[in-house]
Amino acid sequence: MTTLALQPVKQHLIDPEICIRCNTCEETCPVDAITHDANNYVVDATKCNFCLDCISPCPTGSIDNWRIVTAAFSLDEQMSWSELPVQQQIAAGTDGEALEAEVEALLAEAHLGAGGKASAPASAAKPTINLFNRARPAIATVTGNFRLTDAGADNDVRHVILDFGDIAFPVLEGQSIGIATPGVDANGAPHRIRLYSIASPRHGEKPNANNLALTVKRVVETRSDGGTFRGLASNYVCDLKQGAKVQVVGPFGSTFLMPDDPQADIVMICTGTGSAPFRGFTERRRRVMPNAKGKLHLFFGARSPQELPYFGPLQKVPKTLLDQELVFSRLAERPKEYVQDRMRTRAKDLAELLRRDTTHIYVCGLRGMEAGVEASFAAICGEHAQSRQESWQECRARMRDDGRFHVETY
Ligand code: NAP
Repeated sequence: MTTLALQPVKQHLIDPEICIRCNTCEETCPVDAITHDANNYVVDATKCNFCLDCISPCPTGSIDNWRIVTAAFSLDEQMSWSELPVQQQIAAGTDGEALEAEVEALLAEAHLGAGGKASAPASAAKPTINLFNRARPAIATVTGNFRLTDAGADNDVRHVILDFGDIAFPVLEGQSIGIATPGVDANGAPHRIRLYSIASPRHGEKPNANNLALTVKRVVETRSDGGTFRGLASNYVCDLKQGAKVQVVGPFGSTFLMPDDPQADIVMICTGTGSAPFRGFTERRRRVMPNAKGKLHLFFGARSPQELPYFGPLQKVPKTLLDQELVFSRLAERPKEYVQDRMRTRAKDLAELLRRDTTHIYVCGLRGMEAGVEASFAAICGEHAQSRQESWQECRARMRDDGRFHVETY
């Protein structure tokens, strides 16, 4: 242990049992406090400034761990762990009571989690998380795997159904699961767990079936040297045959959840397979509150109708339940259009929605869309007088504090 202080301090740690090594935290940390080796992702106590920027993007919650220590765990120590150390009793000094109070205060502060940055909607059901991990995965059986995009489309996007048999695997719309690809990498380490959003409602593809669906795109890319890169996990999942057994970990996610409030208007903005959670949201509403006062509003971007997952089924969803804007970027006869462009076309309606305290916004899909979506909301707030006269930044901060603004992009 590196001695930092004799007084207790809180140390930010990552739970190696839950972490799926997706690198999101390392990419997010503004002070480069997070690093990794082949074994673990770890936090440098000498750099971490507790800004909490890494907390909400972490898909598993493994990042939200804290210990109160008098000497911080070193990077080498953290890299050697297979599980987090338990919280040690801090030895009482001359003033034992004061020390205890200080430790408690530090722990309470640490467990504020994302510091109010992202929270679940107030009316969301309570999620179950981290029930299964790599050491103890749930074994699911593939009961369906069919192509969602046209046979001639560039992208092979698939709807994969996993059945959990008699294993209890409770999920909510908006949560994710991890899939373990069998085998080991070049270093002999197990392949990284890959995360997929659940595309079905909480009670299964069919009511009360113990199964869930995923929306998975087969990753096949041409490398700069002319060769072909084939995504290991996505090709494994897309090639799964009926009856195959799959190792599943999770469920994950405790904030990107659906409000259960029938008054809630839900604005869902997505590209490509980022539509997965919104299929879950839509099916949930359709099943349990088809006449809810709040409506669903979908902005969904894809290259063309042939490339848009669930294009056919979407045509059958009643307009009274789901207001749809399907936006295409590669139609021969039309200029390129992105979801953020269509948001501007619907500026008046979106401004009206932003005025309501019952509106929830969700953004899911390509990371690149975030800036465009932000710019459109800022323009909408600027152009259409808000009853509160607030900027988009103020509006977003308020919505985020209320658990009404959520982003999941990769
Ligand atoms: P894609 O097919 O590559 O793109 C979908 C659409 O987004 C295309 O029309 C594309 O237009 C457009 N687009 C590209 N750049 C954009 C930008 N800056 N702003 C707005 N639109 C833009 O999408 P995809 O491969 O399915 O990717 C979806 C993303 O969702 C992936 O990053 C994936 O990791 C993520 N995701 C997946 C899941 C899941 O469960 N499978 C869950 C959550 C998130 P052009 O290409 O024509 O320019």
